[in-house]
Amino acid sequence: MKLEGHHKGPHRYRGRGGSKVQSKIWRRGAISYDSSDQTALYIRMLDVRVRSQVGFEPERRSSHPYLRIDFRTLHTRLGYGSSSDGSGTERRVHRLLSFQRYLHSSRLLRGISQQIPLHILDEDYNGQAQCMLEKVGNWNFDIFLFDRLTNGNSLVTLTFHLLNKYGLVELFQLDMVKLWRFLVMVQEDYHNDNPYHNAVHAADVTQAMYCFLQEPMLAKSLTSYDILLGLLAAATHDLGHPGVNQPFLIKTDHYLATLYRNTSVLENHHWKSAVGLLRETRLFSHLPAEDSLNMERELGSLILATDISRQNDYLSRFRMHLDKENLCLSNASHRHFVLQMALKCADICNPCRPWELSKQWSERVTEEFFQQGDIEKKHKLEVSPLCDREANTIGNIQIGFMSYVVEPLFAEWARFSDSRLSQTMLGHMGLNKASWGGLQQEQTAVSEEAGPSATDAENAVAGGSSSKEIPQGSLES
Ligand SMILES: [Zn+2]
Repeated sequence: MKLEGHHKGPHRYRGRGGSKVQSKIWRRGAISYDSSDQTALYIRMLDVRVRSQVGFEPERRSSHPYLRIDFRTLHTRLGYGSSSDGSGTERRVHRLLSFQRYLHSSRLLRGISQQIPLHILDEDYNGQAQCMLEKVGNWNFDIFLFDRLTNGNSLVTLTFHLLNKYGLVELFQLDMVKLWRFLVMVQEDYHNDNPYHNAVHAADVTQAMYCFLQEPMLAKSLTSYDILLGLLAAATHDLGHPGVNQPFLIKTDHYLATLYRNTSVLENHHWKSAVGLLRETRLFSHLPAEDSLNMERELGSLILATDISRQNDYLSRFRMHLDKENLCLSNASHRHFVLQMALKCADICNPCRPWELSKQWSERVTEEFFQQGDIEKKHKLEVSPLCDREANTIGNIQIGFMSYVVEPLFAEWARFSDSRLSQTMLGHMGLNKASWGGLQQEQTAVSEEAGPSATDAENAVAGGSSSKEIPQGSLES
């Protein structure tokens, strides 16, 4: 890729809306902001919050009343204890303060030397978070702990660290402030009231993606451009996820379903949201227009590959290549295909993590399904498969998901990347599946002792039907 016209002069920061946000005092809650150039960024961050509090988008248009549901408010009311509990304002203030410290230090360092080591954020890291980053390639990496240690900033911190670790910031002459701003906006545009599809899931997928990029097969053939694209795709792959699935958006005539013609609705939305933030922050504005358009297109092709309803297409193509042994990683389109497969694996690798981590993800994703089911019941809509908390258990959903979706994918991935990590992942999956099976049996034994009930009968029926529905109906993406 050619890199031209990189702007190295003094940087000016402009918030969303450019001069409009300047020369005003903004006040949200207890925080006042004057509007010098730097603080315009904070206003953008607050703007996201405010926007998110009023629903999906300020200018939604639809004939259907359900479009006006703010699902995140519903989640909160339904009592799911997410990370955005009472301390929201506190968290926001802390983030702003960290960011201010970052701006301060980056201004001090900018212009002194290009050779400065890129860990200028160290003073903002909790020492323990920093320690964890030294083992960021470890498959046992505890992203929940990391998120706590970074005060809810796991996605920004991790992605920034990885891009620096690979030297991509220097190589692509990325403006660090634009990059940081981009990552903050990405993190903020995830809905942290979603039990599952939130910024921590994005951080987890990015960490898994990093592990896969380090696999010998990939490490020796991927270019820096592939790595940049892979990490950005992982970080943004669920951007703006509303916490409900595509069938829900279709049956409620949501404008996104109309906009994307009922096809890969969510994935198109994630991609377009990512492109919006790339353009807004002008992260790649120093690249030739053709290059940045290419990058946006390829980012889309990676994110769209995470549409689980298209899993069989990707899987059979992968299998065919492996059977014929004709994957040639010096070929750019083959490398792109492998990146698509890597991102797909990263996205659904929860069952391949150690039990303690895997179990938490299972609980979260199931809670998100069930909350959708609650909304459907409340509004007298047909309850989607796997979304009825009365008829499903975490165990039956997980066992079905592993058998029909995760195992086939990771079996092929292990054929491709015949490594210790692949074996470790398959090993964890086997153990986790057995653990859910054991818990299911215990539950059955307990309820049999207590005598049969209507719920048991429903469970039995749902257990049979849900397995069939999982390949098409899984929400876990
Ligand atoms: Zn995902």
